[in-house]
Amino acid sequence: MAFASDIEIARAARKLPIQAIGAKLGIPEAALLPYGHDKAKVGQPFIAGLKDRPDGKLILVTAINPTPAGEGKTTTTVGLGDGLNRIGKRAVVCIREASLGPNFGMKGGAAGGGMAQVVPMEEMNLHFTGDFHAITSAHNLLAAMIDNHIYWGNTLDIDARRVVWRRVMDMNDRALRDVVVNLGGVANGFPRQTGFDITVASEVMAILCLARDLDDLQERLGNIVVAYTRAKTPVTARDIKADGAMTVLLKDAMQPNLVQTLENNPAFVHGGPFANIAHGCNSVIATTTALKLGEYVVTEAGFGADLGAEKFFDIKCRKAGLRPAAAVIVATVRAMKMNGGVAKADLGTENVAAVQAGCPNLGRHITNVKGFGVPVVVAINHFTTDTEAEIQAVKDYVAAQGAEAVLCKHWAQGSAGIEDLARKVVALAESGVADFAPLYPDAMPLLAKIETIAKRIYHAEAVVADKAVVDQLKAWEAAGHGHLPVCIAKTQYSFTTDPTVRGAPTGHSIPVREVRLSAGAGFVVAICGEIMTMPGLPRVPSAEVIRLNADGDVEGLF
Ligand code: ADP
Ligand code: MG
Repeated sequence: MAFASDIEIARAARKLPIQAIGAKLGIPEAALLPYGHDKAKVGQPFIAGLKDRPDGKLILVTAINPTPAGEGKTTTTVGLGDGLNRIGKRAVVCIREASLGPNFGMKGGAAGGGMAQVVPMEEMNLHFTGDFHAITSAHNLLAAMIDNHIYWGNTLDIDARRVVWRRVMDMNDRALRDVVVNLGGVANGFPRQTGFDITVASEVMAILCLARDLDDLQERLGNIVVAYTRAKTPVTARDIKADGAMTVLLKDAMQPNLVQTLENNPAFVHGGPFANIAHGCNSVIATTTALKLGEYVVTEAGFGADLGAEKFFDIKCRKAGLRPAAAVIVATVRAMKMNGGVAKADLGTENVAAVQAGCPNLGRHITNVKGFGVPVVVAINHFTTDTEAEIQAVKDYVAAQGAEAVLCKHWAQGSAGIEDLARKVVALAESGVADFAPLYPDAMPLLAKIETIAKRIYHAEAVVADKAVVDQLKAWEAAGHGHLPVCIAKTQYSFTTDPTVRGAPTGHSIPVREVRLSAGAGFVVAICGEIMTMPGLPRVPSAEVIRLNADGDVEGLF
C-alpha cells in the first residue's frame, strides 16, 4: 500500500478558520491576533485573566533513545491529542516551533507525520509567526551593545577576551562557528574572536520558553551573564542596559501561537530551545495557558527520556510548578531491533530475538520516568513492517516491567488508530497515582546534582570532572547560583557519552568537559562530550531540491 507524503497529506487538510479553533477552547475572537487565516497568537491580557482557573491534566510524551530508525514523538503527541478529543476530552497539543536551519539540510519537519500532523506545516517549518526572527534580533541587539560598550570607552572594564555572549542566526552555517569581529582599524573597535550559534541554541530562546510573563522575561534577560571583567567579576545584560529593549523586541513572540491538527483540534506551537545545551521543551507560557483552557494537555520533550524527560521534570516542571499526571514513552519495534544489534538495512526482516535483546533500553526509561512519581504507559508507534510476533514481544516485555504497551496506528489512521492509548492515558491520569517530585532538591551542590543524574538516570558509575570544572562550579555556588538545576548536554543516542553504545549499559563514567552558566534561563549547563551549537549542512543539502511548483506550493521540503 502506498502512503501519501507528509506534505501531500498536510496540503489536503480541511482547515477551519483559526477563530473556530479558538472557540473550541473558549478563546474569544478579540483575544486572538490572527497571522493569516490559520494561525493566531493568543493575547497577553486574555492569558493574564486565566490565572484563577483550575488546571487540566498534563501528559508528557517522551521516548527511548533515538535511533536512525525514527521513533515519532511529535507524531504521537499530535495523534494522542486527536485521540483524546475523539473520546470526548477537551485536549490541547503543545509542541515546539521548528528551526529553519535543519530544514535545508536533512529532509524532515517538526509538525508530526502521516495522519497526525499540525497545519499549516510548511509555514510552521519556515518563518511561521516570526518568533525566531524576534529572538535572533533580541540576541544580536545585546551582542551589538556589548561591542559598542567596549568601543565607547568600556566603563564596565569588560575583558574583551572574556566576552561569553556570541551571535546567532537561524541557519546551518559552519563557516560562522569561529569568527574574528571588529577588524578594519580604529573606527571599528577592538578585534576579538567569537562565533555564531544557531538561534535555537540562544539563551534568549531558553529564557522565552521558561519565563512566566513579560516581567519575568525582562528580569531573566537582565540576569544573562555576557562577559567578565579583568577582575573576573560577571557583567550582565542589565549592566549593559539591554534588557528593556530586548523585552520590547520579544513582546509579541512571548504570546503563544495557536494552530490546528489535521482533525481540527487545537495545538499550541511555541518556542524551540535546543535539547542539549538547553532544556528542549515548548514554552511554559503555552503549556500553562493550555492547562487553563483544556482538560488535557499533551506535550513533548526533546530526545529520549534520559535527556528530554529528565530536563522536562527537573527544569521546566520544577521552575513552572507543573505537576504531570502521566507520561507516554514512545517505542517502535524497529528501534528495539536496532538496540538489539540489527543494522538499519535489515530492519525489514522479522527478528523477535533482536526485539527482545533491545527492550532493556525501553525498560530503563520506564523505571527512570516512574522514579519521578509519574505513571507510565508505552506507545508502540506502529510501522507497516512490524510483525505480530515482534509487537507481542514488546508487549510481553513491558508487562513484565509492571507497565502496559499499547499498539498505536495514528500515523496511518489518525485518531481512530490511537483510541486505546487515549483511554489508557485518561485512566492513568484520573487514577490520581501521580506524585511528581524532581530528582534532586534545589539545595544540593551543583556537582552532586550532576552525579545524581549520572547515577540515577544514566546508571553510570561515576562523574569525571577536571579541577577547573569543579572550581568553576564552586565559584558559581559562592556567587549565589548554587540553587540552579543542571542541564546536561550529552549525546541523545546513548545512556553513556558514546553514541554507539545502545541498550541499557552500566558501569560507565560520565566526563564533564566544560560547564556554562545560563543565569537568565536559570540553569547550569554541564557539557559531557562534543556538542555542536552551530550545525552544518550535509554534502547534498535538501535546499538543492526545494523549490516552488507551478501552483506556487513548496516542493522538496518534506
Ligand atoms: P520525533 O518527534 O521523535 O523526532 P517525528 O514524530 O517528527 O519524530 O517523526 C519523524 C518522521 O517519522 C516523520 O517524518 C514521520 O512522518 C515519520 N513517522 C512517524 N511515525 C511513523 C510511522 N508509524 N510510520 C512511518 N513513518 C512514521
Ligand atoms: Mg519531535
